[in-house]
Amino acid sequence: MSHPTPANTPAAAAATADAAKPSNFLRQIIEADLDKGTYAQRRWAGSPGDAAHHAAGTPDPAKIRTRFPPEPNGYLHIGHAKSICINFGLARDYGGVCHLRFDDTNPEKEDTEYVNSIIDAVQWLGFDWSQSGNDKPYQASDYFDFMYRAAEYLIEAGHAYVDEQTIEQIRTNRGDFSKPGVNSPYRSRTPAENLAKFREMKAGEHEDGSMVLRAKIDMASPNINMRDPAIYRIRRATHHHTGDTWCIYPMYTYAHPIEDALEQITHSFCTLEFEDQRPFYDWLLERLTEGGLLASPPPRQYEFSRLNLTYVITSKRKLAQLVYDHKVSGWDDPRMPTIVGLRRRGYTAAALQMFAERIGVTKSDSWIDYSTLEGCLREDLELKAHRGMAVLNPVKLVLTNWDETMGAGHLEPCSLPALPHPPEGTESPVRHFTIGKEVWIEREDFEEVPPKGYKRLFPGNKVRLKGGYVIECTGCHKDATGKITEVLATVVPDTKSGTPGADSVKVKAAITWVGVADGVPAEVRMYDRLFLDAQPDAGGKDFIESLNPNSLKVVTAIVEPSLANAKPDDKFQFERHGYFVADRVDHKVGKPVFNLAVGLKDSWGK
Ligand code: ATP
Ligand code: MG
Repeated sequence: MSHPTPANTPAAAAATADAAKPSNFLRQIIEADLDKGTYAQRRWAGSPGDAAHHAAGTPDPAKIRTRFPPEPNGYLHIGHAKSICINFGLARDYGGVCHLRFDDTNPEKEDTEYVNSIIDAVQWLGFDWSQSGNDKPYQASDYFDFMYRAAEYLIEAGHAYVDEQTIEQIRTNRGDFSKPGVNSPYRSRTPAENLAKFREMKAGEHEDGSMVLRAKIDMASPNINMRDPAIYRIRRATHHHTGDTWCIYPMYTYAHPIEDALEQITHSFCTLEFEDQRPFYDWLLERLTEGGLLASPPPRQYEFSRLNLTYVITSKRKLAQLVYDHKVSGWDDPRMPTIVGLRRRGYTAAALQMFAERIGVTKSDSWIDYSTLEGCLREDLELKAHRGMAVLNPVKLVLTNWDETMGAGHLEPCSLPALPHPPEGTESPVRHFTIGKEVWIEREDFEEVPPKGYKRLFPGNKVRLKGGYVIECTGCHKDATGKITEVLATVVPDTKSGTPGADSVKVKAAITWVGVADGVPAEVRMYDRLFLDAQPDAGGKDFIESLNPNSLKVVTAIVEPSLANAKPDDKFQFERHGYFVADRVDHKVGKPVFNLAVGLKDSWGK
């Protein structure tokens, strides 16, 4: 696998923060910690582990450690791309390392298909977690042994107890915002009793759901998350890594801080919904560092606002529903906001990185307009994508004087630059195509009776066939229903683009076209937004109801030879229509398939 950007290693990132990047509150936090040397004394043993493990290591060469911790229960989406760019980007910018960690503590939902797709997505976005002594992603299930040991420690230190209340009783006794909780009758058990019970839980002597291990904190805390949260539950489920070794599993809120600490994470960035969990995060790590189990200083959690994008759903569960209910063709359907979907749609890693940069990080929830994302793709492709002509709604144009003026059957070679603005000091590649007696033009480029201001083809008007000749429209043929079957025109000899006589006849418009002789039919998938509602799932709305019935229209276009020879994933600007990508799944040489990635900002002239 290739890693196009400099490796995310301390050595490669020796440079300090890129001064060109606008600051934000996460950068300020990191810079303050670097100034104060908060983490300067940390050691790193080359792999995750407890306090003793790291103490035996060397001073950590990484100035900071961040992590991206997806649960492998679906494909990553544009919201995750934001999180990836933040975590990997900040580590890179500050001489740190970002860990990719699969948060696979929940035994039920994980799948290796998802694991592989996540690895692909992170690498495709241009990031890399390799570092000396470790080139594999981490997985939280590797820490189950430690988590269990930490739980026994908490019990022995009087910080945890086994509760045998029913789930219902626990819920009721937790209280609510206006009412303090009520202590469980099991709360005052001795550490020895709790330890024995907990070991019975582990040994499989109790039913699923019959008891839980709870942290012993404060049932009257104003923060409900501090009212003795459950930290271990009994769950007989086969885990995709640990199999049937365990019948008890740690709760996410218990597992996550421990995962961070074992990996010597310094800054644990997450989305705002975890803000209320922070006191427990800190409480737990304080207990385990004071007990000498985990290295000090512990990681700190900081929250930023999640990405909400108009017309888009960013919930793996809801995206899964679209896939399983066949509302889309799969996780990589080009209308999906998944990274695989965006990629197939024609999005580039550079465009997604630009998007993450541009939306920045804040602490308040807001909605980002979908056009911001589209703007980033346009900006990236504007200078890179080769131009080409494609006729999406073709009607044949016959040059009735071709045979007399140019010669019967003659095909005149034409060419245009593929890039209007090639990089400094380079020349644009050239596209070659031919013009003959018959060409395809867009149906909308001919009007028998032109509306006011219309500058394209109508009887008596002259236009230029882009890169070809000036032609003069003479009329059209229609079928019995009145539908236009052929547009008729005459070619004006000696006006070929790029020849000395080209400017001898002035015209007000140039239209796109493709020769009948060398044009190639192509399937073009015209995608539109998947939802009609700007906030399809806000406020518990049923997002299925706002699915756009016209989010995909397939047309047979005629494309010029340079487009027909595209390789899968090649991106083009179809002149006047927008940016298109050769579909990475279905496109074949000889059977081209293109997806509309994004339209052009400026619509075609009058
Ligand atoms: P989903 O609800 O789609 O499953 P999640 O938050 O449960 O999302 P995880 O796999 O647990 O998905 O997330 C991995 C990381 O990505 C977390 O740190 C999470 O905060 C972040 N993340 C997920 N969705 C977004 C979003 N919309 N904007 C920013 N970050 C996000
Ligand atoms: Mg989740």
